[in-house]
Amino acid sequence: MLRYAGTDIVFQEFPDEVTLAINITGCPNNCPGCHSPYLREDAGPELDDVALLSLIADYRGEITCVGLMGGDGDPQSVMHLCDTIRLTYGDTLRTGWYSGRERLPQGFRPELFDYVKLGPFVEAAGPLSSPHTNQRMYRIHDGKLHDITHRFRKR
Ligand code: SF4
Repeated sequence: MLRYAGTDIVFQEFPDEVTLAINITGCPNNCPGCHSPYLREDAGPELDDVALLSLIADYRGEITCVGLMGGDGDPQSVMHLCDTIRLTYGDTLRTGWYSGRERLPQGFRPELFDYVKLGPFVEAAGPLSSPHTNQRMYRIHDGKLHDITHRFRKR
């Protein structure tokens, strides 16, 4: 089961998208210098299908993407929610996932995602916009992952 702490409308987390970002709690990662310690608590309302579709309905017509920010404690539920978005909205709404893991979970279903970010927060390496970042952003097309991390570099 997933819970969430709130939502934001964001413009930079997924390139060229206006994204409803849902901040999932219960993060099992233990990144030194964690930028959002409150996301490590198992707190907030449940993020089930009903809650997800209600959140999306509030912003339908304004967003192009839904970003699930976290959820490494229950990747099966992350995939289930993306499946719900696919079944409800088809290809009219893209899906993205911010994972703090190095690797994709077992049983990852690439067809459910348009974007996936991998990699823990490492303060010295910096965020996706840093030339030294350890994190990677992938665009998924036809089940294949394409590294688009360079899109975050400041010019
Ligand atoms: S992935 Fe790392 S930085 Fe992000 S909330 Fe979890 S512990 Fe904190």
